Order: sequence, then C-alpha cells, then structure tokens
Amino acid sequence: MIAELIAVGTEIVSGQALDTNSRRLAEELGRLGIRVKYHTSIGDDLEDNVDAFGTASRRVDLVVVTGGLGPTQDDLTRQVLANVAGVGLVHHEPSLEAIRALFARRNRVMTDRNRVQALFPEGAEPLPNRIGTAPGIWMRIARAWFAALPGVPYEMEAMFAEQVAPRLRAEGLATRVIVHRKINLFGKGEAEVESLALDLTARGRKPEVGITVSDATISFRVAGEGADEAEALASISETLDTIRSRFADIYVGEGDVDIADAAAASLIAQGKTLATAESCTGGMIASRLTSIPGISAAYLGGLVTYSNDAKSRLVDVPAELIETRGAVSPETAAAMAEGVRDRFGADYGLAVTGIAGPGGGTPEKPVGLVYIGLAGPRGTSTSNLELGPEQPRDVIQRRTTKHALNRLRLELAAGS
Ligand code: ATP
Ligand code: MG
Repeated sequence: MIAELIAVGTEIVSGQALDTNSRRLAEELGRLGIRVKYHTSIGDDLEDNVDAFGTASRRVDLVVVTGGLGPTQDDLTRQVLANVAGVGLVHHEPSLEAIRALFARRNRVMTDRNRVQALFPEGAEPLPNRIGTAPGIWMRIARAWFAALPGVPYEMEAMFAEQVAPRLRAEGLATRVIVHRKINLFGKGEAEVESLALDLTARGRKPEVGITVSDATISFRVAGEGADEAEALASISETLDTIRSRFADIYVGEGDVDIADAAAASLIAQGKTLATAESCTGGMIASRLTSIPGISAAYLGGLVTYSNDAKSRLVDVPAELIETRGAVSPETAAAMAEGVRDRFGADYGLAVTGIAGPGGGTPEKPVGLVYIGLAGPRGTSTSNLELGPEQPRDVIQRRTTKHALNRLRLELAAGS
C-alpha cells in the first residue's frame, strides 16, 4: 500500500509558497500505516497535470491531491481528473445547493463561476466541504484511489479527517497504525550522542531510530507499527526506555517538550519564581518563556539591559565593574542575575551577556562568547559559552537562549 501526494499550484513550484499540505498529509497517512513514496509538485497547467496524475494513477494505490479546486480559471484539478479517467464532467445538484447555502450563511453573493465547483468527473464521489466552498473529489483511476482536496490548509485537514480517512478504512487501505515518539536531549554534541547510540541507529534495526538536531537540541525519533495504537506503542517501549536511561544526564523531555518547557515545568512544580536580564538575546529568553501557557505562575518579568548604562541603572551592575571587567564578563553576568533577582523579588535571576556578532569581537572576546549568570537560593554561579565566531547572529542568540534556560533547568533539578 503506497501513496503519492500531489500539490497543485504555480505558487508552490515557483517557490512563492511552501507546500505544507503534503508534509501534513504524509504524517497523517503514516499514522494510518500508508507509506508515502512520492511527493509531486506541479504548476497550474493542464497538460502537466494530466501527465503527473496519469503517472501517479499507475504507480501507487492512493493519490492525495491538494489545490486547484477553486472557481477560478487556473483551478484545473476536476478537469484533469476527468481527462485522465477519460470521462466527462457532470453536474451534482446537492453540491451546488451546499455552495449556495454557504454563500447565503455568509451574506455573500454566489457568482456564476462557483457553479464549476459542482462539476465532477463522471463516476466520482463528491466530498462535502464543511468549512469552505470547494467540495473534494473521491474516485478511482487505474490502480489508484484519488482524493482531491482543497488547497487551503485547514479545509484540507478537516476534509481529510472527516471524509478521506474513513474511506481509507472502509476500503481496507488503512489497516495499520504508526506511532511516532521523540525524545529530546540537550548538552552534548550530535557526534558524541550518535557515537553512544550506534547500536540504536543501525540500519535495518527494528524499530528504526533516527537522530535529528534543531538548534543544538538532539532528538531521537522512534516509529512503531502495529494493528492498533497499543500494539504500535508496545513495539517501541523497550527502545524508548533504553534511550531514556542511556541519556538520562542530558534528557530534556519528549514530544514538543524542549528546554524552555522543561525549565518552566520545574519552576511551576517547585513553586519558584524567575526574573531575567538579557543583553545579547534582546528578550528572546523572555519571549520563549512567555510562549508557554501557564508561565505567569512562575515568570515575574524581564529586562533587556542592552547598554552599559541600562545594566547599571536597571539591574544595579556597578559602573566600575563594567569598566574594569567589561560588559561581557562573568562578573557582569553574575551582577545582572543578582540585580534582576533583587529588583523583581524573584527566587531566581537569570542573565546573559555576550557578543552576538558579526561585529564587536576581539581576540580576547570573540564573537560567540557569552556569559550566563544565575542567582538563586543556593547562591550565584556563572558559566561561559563559546559558540563560535562563524555562527550567524540569530544562531548565537537562539543557542544562548537555550543554554541559559538549560542552566536554570539543571539548577532546579539539583536544588530540588
Ligand atoms: P479555493 O477554493 O480556496 O480556491 P483551491 O482548492 O483552489 O481552493 P488553491 O487555489 O490551489 O486551492 O489554493 C488556495 C490557497 O491554499 C492558496 O492561497 C494557498 O496559499 C493555499 N495552498 C494551496 N496549496 C497548498 C499547499 N500544498 N500547502 C499549503 N498551502 C497551500
Ligand atoms: Mg483556487
């Protein structure tokens, strides 16, 4: 059972829009045990589409098409399906009624152009669209079932879940369940982690384990398969436990849980509060924290103390300290952390000061040098990062944000 995804739209092949539909659909089909073998993108051109659909109809069992179902001239999908199947287009009155009703509900006038959206290749089954005008199309051509869905991502998703997935089950195409689990680690390099996991990542191992890296967070991805979810999960539970115990020292969390989430969860669980003073990250730590729902229980606030003067006036770093040690120094980072902790009356004060580049580096203090200060119930500590002068500014800022939050996370774990 293999599938192909076809994204229709000149804006996609030209690079003006990103085909997020295929990514989403590949995930969803994977969950149903259907393996996607091809992703095809194609512009709004009739002949090209007929070609691509024809090829797909012969090489896979299922084709999911998105886009090209609208009412405009360049929306060709229904015509393409009819041509490839060698049938005509026929009017489907209930679909026209549904489109009329939608326009009426929205107090808009239906144009004549929308009538084409009630045309279907002969023998095709219309897929009702609960939230938009364009109905989808379900039909068989040669070897393949075709599902043509709207291009608008949320309409596509709803129609896939409500109309397509049940048909795949009914046709016996979706018989397996695939589950994905992700374990996130932070604090060691990718190569080092990989060298400790060669047995896990070996080709052909069951279940397969993959490693991905995103801004220095290393993730193990494990997929399991079974007749149902419980069986699929059972097939990977031992592997997951092996990863959890082998990498316990750098384990952060699972799924979408990254460092900020883990640090926030610890703060909240321990009933502790935090304030931040940021220089080179310009508020990115505050931004990451405040993107987490429920963080108001723990995060009191933060200051972007970018200039020397701001460091002195807002978080009480002595001017002579900055003069003698420099704004980028462990002493300044410590003073910022203590200052912001005091000013906010927080349990923890977290501060960063560094050189994000590309300018401003010196041989003694190169771009990518960052100091993290953390003041808390157990005292004040500092640590330094050397992220590398070749790194772009945004990478240095994102990594600094993660490392700073990781310092807090480890301190919370040690102090609890
Ligand atoms: P409509 O009835 O809205 O015209 P449609 O089926 O004709 O739907 P398109 O006109 O091709 O779909 O695309 C509608 C919108 O959906 C586009 O503005 C585009 O941004 C978005 N879209 C189309 N295809 C994709 C895709 N593969 N991934 C993400 N977004 C997409
Ligand atoms: Mg359109």
